[in-house]
Amino acid sequence: MPDRDVLIIGAGFSGLYQLHKLRQLGFDAHVVETGPQVGGTWYWNRYPGARCDIESIGYSYSFDPELQQEWNWSERYAAQPEILAYLEHVAERLDLRKDITFDTRVQSLVFDDADDCWTATTDNGSTITARFVVAATGCLSKPLTPTFDGLDDFTGDVHWTWDWPAGGADLAGKRVAVVGTGSSGVQTITAIAPTVGSLTVFQRTPTYAVPAQNRRIDEELAALKTHYDDFRAESRLSVGGFPCGDELPPFFEDLDDARIRTELEVRYDNGGLCFQQSFRDLLQNEEANARAAEYVRNRISEKVDDPAVAEKLTPRTYPIAAKRMCVDTGYYEVYNQDNVALIDVNEQPIRRITSRGILAGDTEHEFDVIILATGFDAMTGALESIDIRHGAQTLRDKWSDGPRTYLGLMSAGFPNLFTVTGPQSPSVLSNMVTSIETHVEWISAALEFLRENGLTRIEPDVAAEDNWVNTTNDAADLTLLGQAPSWYMGANVPGKPRAALPFVGGVGTYQQILDGVAVTGYHGFELV
Ligand code: FAD
Repeated sequence: MPDRDVLIIGAGFSGLYQLHKLRQLGFDAHVVETGPQVGGTWYWNRYPGARCDIESIGYSYSFDPELQQEWNWSERYAAQPEILAYLEHVAERLDLRKDITFDTRVQSLVFDDADDCWTATTDNGSTITARFVVAATGCLSKPLTPTFDGLDDFTGDVHWTWDWPAGGADLAGKRVAVVGTGSSGVQTITAIAPTVGSLTVFQRTPTYAVPAQNRRIDEELAALKTHYDDFRAESRLSVGGFPCGDELPPFFEDLDDARIRTELEVRYDNGGLCFQQSFRDLLQNEEANARAAEYVRNRISEKVDDPAVAEKLTPRTYPIAAKRMCVDTGYYEVYNQDNVALIDVNEQPIRRITSRGILAGDTEHEFDVIILATGFDAMTGALESIDIRHGAQTLRDKWSDGPRTYLGLMSAGFPNLFTVTGPQSPSVLSNMVTSIETHVEWISAALEFLRENGLTRIEPDVAAEDNWVNTTNDAADLTLLGQAPSWYMGANVPGKPRAALPFVGGVGTYQQILDGVAVTGYHGFELV
């Protein structure tokens, strides 16, 4: 008999809820986590300005009405310390820590057909056997750490945004470089600009950022708490796992010019990622997309004093929303400060790091601190970092041309192994807590079904998987996603196959598909 019914890997939003849910159902579940405490993303990413870009009222668990009533979010967009405090509170409230082993990384998983169970080997040499494994390893948990020539020669401090020093970093008055202008870069730049001596930003791809319009939400939250369940139900059926207004406007072509302008202006000024849903077909219709993109470009040029700098900050080469948009709080205005400079690495490539700074083009820029905000090997990185084997087959080999899953939940040939927000599920295109809850609940119900029916093994049919892979690729092909050099497509990792990593069909549609599969007795899965 295996040691455990279920081994859960990771103690972020996914792993914590998965543990709680399975314990409630009477399963013997245990979590193994690389880090020293709970929190996942919100433990690791402690850089200045780290903040959620989904509104906190939605970026939180819905499964526990009492928790929902007792927790008070202070701001519209919660900052990292508040989200981490929330997850610590959840762990405490539900007494989760006693079933978590910290400071331990799962290095390999090997499936044994004789016992229908997995053997996990960890980095401290211990092994755990479990009938089922839930990989709650995160979509953005494997950092990309590009090897700049000479990084070790630098005599100042180097900080990665994903692994910020626990005690903070002293940047006051220092000459600081930030490499990278994705979400982490944008947030860091905005937060540190007021206190550093000088700030030089190295940008490869300019970002489309919309304002957060962050604010305290005491009264809004109190009002929401009187009907929180309705809001959660709406979230589950929405496109992005968060309701973006009562009524989404019709397709772009049906709108007159005045309505288009109003729609963009209202959504932009209201703030946040609901701007992406200005039109239902914003990610499909080139004209609709161009209109929204132009609107954001114009707003950038209004905010930046120097037209040459504004131009460098203006994205022109890819559709809006085809790359993760940023939510900002004064990002563009930072470039009006005298102590801030912007370097486009397409014009001046980073040639190497020197003992004193960064050699870009022919110029050596001197720094005291270099901050690297270089992103993640998204969605597949953490899973492929584990040596997952069944017989002669490894998951890495199977996915060498791109991930292959059924519903983003399992991969054929790897029985009893579930992924939470795995590739080919809506995951990173959604409010991830909504998507996490959907997966955790579906997986838990499937395990209950197996137990009730005396079954020990579940695995997707190859045909069902092929069909889902084609569905996700075809759906992505109908969008503009492939036109951006984004991590949604694996484009940020040298050598990574280009494939649409998330399912673009929307959270509500996906939820209905999952429900349909479950009520038909797990159609597309082989149960033994
Ligand atoms: P994670 O929080 O990534 O946790 C996974 C855990 O698994 C980690 O603690 C990791 O250490 C552990 N782990 C991985 N591999 C192993 C292994 N082999 N052995 C043991 N442990 C392992 N999402 C949104 O919806 N809205 C946002 O605004 C948003 N902002 C973000 C900002 C940043 C800077 C980042 C990095 C991500 C953001 N995300 C956001 C995505 C975020 O990752 C998810 O919302 C959510 O926190 C994921 O929870 P998780 O538990 O699935 O994964």
